[in-house]
Amino acid sequence: MIQFIDLQTQYRLVQEEVEAAVLRVMRGGQYIMGPEVAELEAELSGFAGVKHTVSCASGTDALVMALMAKNIGPGDAVFTPPFTFVATAEAIATVGATPIFVDIDPGTFNIDPEALKLAILAVRRCDPSIYPVPRAGEIHVERLTCKAIIAVDLFGLTADYDRINAIAAEDGLLVIEDAAQSFGARAGSKRAGSLAEIGCTSFFPAKPLGCYGDGGALFTDDDELAALFRSIRVHGQGSDKYENVRIGITGRLDTIQAAALLAKLKIFEQELNDRERVALAYNAAIEREGLALQTPTLPQGQKSAWAQYSVLAADSAARERLMESLKQAGIPTSIYYPKPLHLQKAFAYLGYAAGDFAVSEAISGRVFSLPMHPYLDDATIISIVDAMKAAS
Ligand SMILES: *Cc1c(COP(=O)(O)O)cnc(C)c1O
Repeated sequence: MIQFIDLQTQYRLVQEEVEAAVLRVMRGGQYIMGPEVAELEAELSGFAGVKHTVSCASGTDALVMALMAKNIGPGDAVFTPPFTFVATAEAIATVGATPIFVDIDPGTFNIDPEALKLAILAVRRCDPSIYPVPRAGEIHVERLTCKAIIAVDLFGLTADYDRINAIAAEDGLLVIEDAAQSFGARAGSKRAGSLAEIGCTSFFPAKPLGCYGDGGALFTDDDELAALFRSIRVHGQGSDKYENVRIGITGRLDTIQAAALLAKLKIFEQELNDRERVALAYNAAIEREGLALQTPTLPQGQKSAWAQYSVLAADSAARERLMESLKQAGIPTSIYYPKPLHLQKAFAYLGYAAGDFAVSEAISGRVFSLPMHPYLDDATIISIVDAMKAAS
């Protein structure tokens, strides 16, 4: 039985250590903010190459906390791609700010820096002829202030932060890296999470570094921001537990999850190597068989965390045939993401229309993901690619 993500095989590798660590927490009684939390934060800072890591309850909370710390809210425009998991844009709406969608690069599936420039200009000048902007009755683009960009490292590949940070600097915008799918990825000598002023990640079980429930973290080199994150995480707490100096949330990571993550970090580097081995084996097998599939783009100097191995079929009909033929062979697949966010009901209030983001829309119709985890062997990878031969 081929699994899309094999968490059981992984669990067998870390079982002894995870169970011992969790049991220590249970017996020790420090379920909230026990010593494992600070220990994990120090390890993650070393790993990601940042000064501060502040763990939190989920990747979504990390994004919300980042925006809260910067006082981003009603009247503020935050630029983000529509081809991502809903949480990215949801966090913007949660704090009352307005998501402004920006199309993606057709090769990397990450935010397109040229389109970003146009979108900022379109909001600034309030001119939809430059780039599509929200145009529903309730949104007044002329009253929006451009504040931030949340770039997403989709499927594990980091976005083009050299260009994104430069564009942001010109306009005095904050950049947040949504590294929920890319923790462990590299861009040159840097790690995902460290590529913008604030990095956010998720430890949801299916992410490259997952825990056994929900979890997340924020990364920054800024001392003041880190202190703000720590305060917001516990109800805006001041220097004393019962002094409340700002509005915050219940955003802590459970001690049990921190303990489990500390154990899992020990095999994480090996897992990243194995994910890469799997991706390269897929690439080679697909090329060898001459399948009509576009394999993932990997820009020079970048190493993906391979949260997903996603390919593009020639069109929707071809995708359907390929996925059906895999299903017949007992091989699970998935579509990330079948509908870009500007066409989702939850974001209808922005007034975007079909055709606004042509690349995201076209890719949503062609993309699908094959099984991806560190424990796929070469024979299985070949059998997966073979199962697509008849339909290609
Ligand atoms: C998973 C994910 C999130 C949210 O993380 P949770 O821990 O599930 O809240 C945010 N952004 C992206 C791109 C994700 O894939």
